[in-house]
Amino acid sequence: MRTERELIDKLRDTRALTREEWVQVIEGRDEDAARYLFETARAIRHAVYGRDVYIRGLIEISNYCKNDCYYCGIRRSNRLADRYRLTAEEILACADTGYALGFRTFVLQGGEDAYYTDALLGELLREIKRRYPDCAITLSLGERGEESFRCLFEAGADRYLLRHETASPVHYASLHPPELRLDNRKECLYALKRIGYQVGSGFMVGSPGQTAENLAEDMLFLKELSPQMVGIGPFIPHHDTPFAHCPAGTVELTLFLLGLLRLMLPHALLPATTALGTLSPQGRELGILAGANVVMPNLSPAASRKKYMLYDNKLCTGDEAAESLNSLKKRMKSIGYNVVVDRGDYKI
Ligand code: SAH
Repeated sequence: MRTERELIDKLRDTRALTREEWVQVIEGRDEDAARYLFETARAIRHAVYGRDVYIRGLIEISNYCKNDCYYCGIRRSNRLADRYRLTAEEILACADTGYALGFRTFVLQGGEDAYYTDALLGELLREIKRRYPDCAITLSLGERGEESFRCLFEAGADRYLLRHETASPVHYASLHPPELRLDNRKECLYALKRIGYQVGSGFMVGSPGQTAENLAEDMLFLKELSPQMVGIGPFIPHHDTPFAHCPAGTVELTLFLLGLLRLMLPHALLPATTALGTLSPQGRELGILAGANVVMPNLSPAASRKKYMLYDNKLCTGDEAAESLNSLKKRMKSIGYNVVVDRGDYKI
């Protein structure tokens, strides 16, 4: 059997491991392996993206959702969620603020809310692009039909984030109601790729019932999909969901997986996510030092920020807020990285 270091070297050199090797490298990890992994991941990241950190202005446009994912605080059945949706004017105002702050990518994220028709979104996308032709727009609005994805792409959307959540069908079924299918989600990801989007997928770390075998499956699926972006963050319970009493995922495992992702997909855009920052005050920095190269500060209007509560204590102020960009810049500087004013596209 190969040692941890040999597995990390194999992943660095061939960008692939077998299912058994993924399980072994994940289960066998220790501090030594993590140190070696992060050094290797940073060297790869520096070769591809230098010391630049890309920022994305996150605009949470709606917390209405027709889905009922068991882990999510804005699930349909959560009667206690205080629902809101932003108008096109409010979203444009967020983009105006963000542009002035130096953001050149806006991420429009929300629950699956039928209010946002292709026509409404199309008009909005065209207006953002008219005002800011030098900006990229990322959508993260859940599953839609291929025609809808195409229509939004033609209206100006450049990228789409749709985490697969878990690539194991049985595990997927334990996190979602029966009407949500892993196959549909995957089909959406392939459609997005066909259309020409820069595509992001990803999964929660430490979601209830997750095993090392499930994580191995996630890595194999991501290898096959080869997305331009991969978002991973620890699962964090929300008190008004069926998983209220499940333990959160760990920062340690999330960081280790970030390092592995950097080795497997050297060019990927990897965010140090809000969930990582929520579990640890140093989460953002640790994520960058494990191989991540993106942060996504919150640009949503102050009044709605607390309502987009996917999980308990979700950060939306302090360095998580777009207004605190200067403080984020200083923190990145202190670990040797530079926040840049740039669209931050995927580098081939
Ligand atoms: N409706 C969109 C956006 C979902 S919210 C979509 O379906 O893609 C963005 C991400 O937040 C989800 O993909 C999920 O991975 C994550 N998330 C939701 N609930 C969470 C929780 N309790 N803990 C950690 N992450 C969570």
